[in-house]
Amino acid sequence: MIDTHCHLYLEQFEKDIDKVLSRAAQAGLSDILMPAITFDSLPKMDQLSHPDIDFHKMAGIHPTSVNDGKQATEETLYEYCKQADIIGVGETGLDYYWSDDFKAEQQESLRIHCRVAKAVQKPIILHNRSSTEDLLKIIEEEQDGSLSGIWHCFNGSEEEGKRTIDLGLHLGIGGIFTFKNAGVDKTVAQLPLDKMMLETDAPYLAPAPKRGKRNEPAFIVHTAKRLAEVKGLPVDEVERKTNQIARKLFGLAD
Ligand SMILES: [Zn+2]
Repeated sequence: MIDTHCHLYLEQFEKDIDKVLSRAAQAGLSDILMPAITFDSLPKMDQLSHPDIDFHKMAGIHPTSVNDGKQATEETLYEYCKQADIIGVGETGLDYYWSDDFKAEQQESLRIHCRVAKAVQKPIILHNRSSTEDLLKIIEEEQDGSLSGIWHCFNGSEEEGKRTIDLGLHLGIGGIFTFKNAGVDKTVAQLPLDKMMLETDAPYLAPAPKRGKRNEPAFIVHTAKRLAEVKGLPVDEVERKTNQIARKLFGLAD
């Protein structure tokens, strides 16, 4: 299996990373994809290793870090993202939940990430919180047919999901999808599986029945199981299909 979105390099894993990685391998994870929070995330990603797991890096500035003044120039971001061992651009996106004060800066950062993603031809990773309309509007403006990417931790409506897919993007299915009261499962049931991939967003947003705990890659099995239920398919078929989609989008070897 592939965890397409995970922040294993954060301090929440410092104490027991070896155990977290053995549980991930035991759960069947072969690949872990890591979006960055800032460029400081990258050297920390390099320290991770496990004989049965391939780790993949991305480069970008998270929208909430933009609030802290961590805006990247297009040139700097391009220098990171053009490197052969960087498989994606992000995470970027918009987050108006914590503060409305940095909308302009976040939007500018998102546009820079879009331009770099198109220039290096690698997928963009989009975070969205309380900002759906602006996010989709900017993607619409930036999409020239060459932008690919993921609305990570998808939590939109059916209409927003369709709009995202029509824009050429994929949907990352994570913990929120398994929450009973969130209603994302009903939305996902109506959207095509061949545009979906699985993710944890660990250490955040652990799926049910682990909700409220620190999330980790091994918990992805719960999300896979729930997606199989919602789609009325065997879980191994859901795993195989979503893995295939992720491998294709990120250009990972089989
Ligand atoms: Zn994330």
